[in-house]
Amino acid sequence: MVTCPVCKGAIDVEEEDVDEGDTVSCDECGADLRVVSTSPLELESAEALEEEDEDEEGFLGDEEEESDADWK
Ligand SMILES: [Zn+2]
Repeated sequence: MVTCPVCKGAIDVEEEDVDEGDTVSCDECGADLRVVSTSPLELESAEALEEEDEDEEGFLGDEEEESDADWK
């Protein structure tokens, strides 16, 4: 069992079932997660890695921040 870095939900994956570099999907939010370590089991969002150059905050639906910047 490991915690999803995206939604903080529990993912039912055992460290003996995966290898470093494997990709698993979160049942809760459907995010693609990459296994960065198996001991202890650690996951990170594969999507965040691929879209590192983009504004990750924008995907969180924080529209207020955007209009706030506009207001200034
Ligand atoms: Zn998740």
